[in-house]
Amino acid sequence: MFDNLSTKLDRAFKTLKGQGSITEINVASTVKEIRRALVDADVNYKVAKEVTDKIKDEAMGREVLTAVSPGQLMVKIVYDELTQLMGGEKQDIVIKGEPAVVLLSGLQGSGKTTFAGKLASFIKKQNRTVLLVAADVYRPAAIDQLKVLGEQIGVEVYSEVENKNPVQIAQNAIQFAKQNNKKVVIIDTAGRLAVDEEMMREIEQVKRAINPSETLFVVDSMTGQDAVNTAKSFNERINFDGVVLTKLDGDARGGAALSIRAVVEKPIKFISTGEKMEALDLFYPDRMAQRILG
Ligand code: GDP
Repeated sequence: MFDNLSTKLDRAFKTLKGQGSITEINVASTVKEIRRALVDADVNYKVAKEVTDKIKDEAMGREVLTAVSPGQLMVKIVYDELTQLMGGEKQDIVIKGEPAVVLLSGLQGSGKTTFAGKLASFIKKQNRTVLLVAADVYRPAAIDQLKVLGEQIGVEVYSEVENKNPVQIAQNAIQFAKQNNKKVVIIDTAGRLAVDEEMMREIEQVKRAINPSETLFVVDSMTGQDAVNTAKSFNERINFDGVVLTKLDGDARGGAALSIRAVVEKPIKFISTGEKMEALDLFYPDRMAQRILG
């Protein structure tokens, strides 16, 4: 994960590492290299500029120039700024209500259905009863996929094969949950290959009708800048509460992880790192910054 970015950042610090005395010019060129590494990793240009400007100010303010080991101090400054960029503190999802409802949104192929299974399994392990809901009325295969996952993790799946109205399906599912003592309802909605009006209207209507305590936007981290643009489009329409970054086990360049929070102003809450049900982690900005710095 982020090998390329880590290598480039490490190279940027090399100029400062092992040097007793350094100049403002050293700092400026290191900061420039850091900015280039971030942009190469698909970090939004404006975000890369803002964060490296801050790093530069910090470096000058915290006397990197006279530090005993300027390289180490610089790594610490970058670590702090990357942590802040990704939101600072870990943010949990809100599971509240009788039943609590979690709504999932995102494009087709983003890993939404896989994540629905993972989240259900995660919540079940906390000894809460869960109902998975297949509200994708366009792809019967999506219902089957969720049923297979449900069986695998021992969670019931609600679906209505003949019903083409996702709002009704979601409402009926919540009634079903109430009658069957399910405490948490996770609704998997239909995605499209790209942002389109019909999908947006549909998810908007579902959200308004069921008032979830948590709406999550699921996005494939390998799609770089597109991930950020898609997040913006969804957020403008449904004002989601948090982001799930998927496929971080692939050769993601890091851009999505680093810019989504700054651009959309919503926290990343989970990361998905594989196809298996166990491959789910809570998102800790500081740990991610640590991983990026290698
Ligand atoms: P949906 O269309 O958004 O519901 O996406 P799916 O859940 O069907 O996932 C699309 C593909 O990505 C499937 O082949 C999944 O197995 C795969 N996938 C989902 N999450 C991850 C992940 O974190 N890592 C990897 N490597 N593959 C994933």
